Amino acid sequence: MSVDQQSSTQPSSTQQTVADLVVVGGGHAGHSAFSAYLKAGGPGPVILISEDDTAPYRRPPLSKDFLRGESGSDQLAMDPADFYTGGDNELLLDDAVTSIDTAKRMLHTRSGREITYRHCILATGSAPTPLDVPGGDTATGLRFLSEARELRDAAQSATTAVVIGSGFIGCEASASLAVRGIAVTLVSTSSGPQEKRLGPDASSLISGWLEDAGVRMHHNTGVREIEAGHVVRLTDGTELAADLVLNATGVTLRTELAEQAGAEVREGRVVVDEQMRTSVPGLFAVGDVALAMNTAAGRHLAVEHWNAAERMGEVAGTVAAGGEAHWAEPLGFFSLIGHHLLKYAAWADGFDEAIPVHHEGGGLTVWYARDGVTVGVLTSEADDDLDLGRKLLLQGAPPPVAPPNHG
Ligand SMILES: Cc1cc2nc3c(=O)[nH]c(=O)nc-3n(C[C@H](O)[C@H](O)[C@H](O)COP(=O)(O)OP(=O)(O)OC[C@H]3O[C@@H](n4cnc5c(N)ncnc54)[C@H](O)[C@@H]3O)c2cc1C
Repeated sequence: MSVDQQSSTQPSSTQQTVADLVVVGGGHAGHSAFSAYLKAGGPGPVILISEDDTAPYRRPPLSKDFLRGESGSDQLAMDPADFYTGGDNELLLDDAVTSIDTAKRMLHTRSGREITYRHCILATGSAPTPLDVPGGDTATGLRFLSEARELRDAAQSATTAVVIGSGFIGCEASASLAVRGIAVTLVSTSSGPQEKRLGPDASSLISGWLEDAGVRMHHNTGVREIEAGHVVRLTDGTELAADLVLNATGVTLRTELAEQAGAEVREGRVVVDEQMRTSVPGLFAVGDVALAMNTAAGRHLAVEHWNAAERMGEVAGTVAAGGEAHWAEPLGFFSLIGHHLLKYAAWADGFDEAIPVHHEGGGLTVWYARDGVTVGVLTSEADDDLDLGRKLLLQGAPPPVAPPNHG
């Protein structure tokens, strides 16, 4: 069954249920927690509650092949709908947990459900932060399938687009819209795409790819206002007319339930140990919303990548079912910008050296180090370096090349 065809559960009056596990959130982390719990033989009922109106689906294609019009929503589902409803298990879609009482281990949903749980896993992720300028709320976000559909529909007839924000989603979406033949302008307050996060060499590589795709760039400029949803005025006085405007400036992490539960929140995320346990008994947090202990890194990490979200979900689901697991893997992701693939493995919590190695034929490796130790590697057409980088990360070893100023 395609994700479009799956229906939501909306009880009309208060209904009381006892569950062994409640998973809050139907993203990568929530789906993985639910699956791992069942796989580890955890008892039911298990209930997955998601504010999304569709069963768990993969988000990364939303800025890539889905936006380019090369794949449909039927290719996004993580599992068929009946996967979630075996035995007494339930999938509540288009619903939200509105309050949690950790003393009673009870939560309430927007649709009027009252659910008592033994374990609860918070996998609430994030939502796009609205642009705080006049007319900012008219720009589309790109986090949920509903937003991606809106954007893709608009792209079918659009000839011009403005994308605000040059993070990965802004860069990927710009290139995807340009591939569709739309004249795209990318606006960003930074001096180059991803410059602060990945350093100048990776940034200029991405800039080149965007230019090749036909994307025009306005850097060091903010948005002053959006008039009638179609005229974007920049702080440098430029005025851009656009059939569609995408806000890719960032996200707000959804920590409100964890805060209400009294769990420790630091740096805007829910603090968890290597087994994804919060400071509150019976309550776990996983995925983008978590600040999780990674035993290989030896410190808490904040990550916004699907494979880390899935691994954290797997750990929490296994532990909630009575099994043994902990988070020890390095982080990594691929980004597809137009038809160019960037690969990255890192602890992603900062570096003091970014050492570029340009390869014959246009490939690039950037080694990231902190205090002389490898903390990341980024590659384009250099898979051997990616493999080596992962090993060096785990070993806590120096990069294989010295910074240029060290000879
Ligand atoms: C367009 C796009 C492209 C991306 N591309 C890549 C990529 O190429 N590589 C990569 O590694 N990562 C990529 N990411 C990031 C990746 O998708 C995220 O890291 C991942 O989705 C995090 O999973 P999560 O489950 O923690 O959170 P989310 O996926 O944000 O899921 C959170 C879920 O919680 C639900 N929710 C929130 N509050 C409540 C509540 N109170 N009650 C019930 N439900 C609630 C939401 O509806 C949602 O279902 C991309 C993200 C986007 C949006």
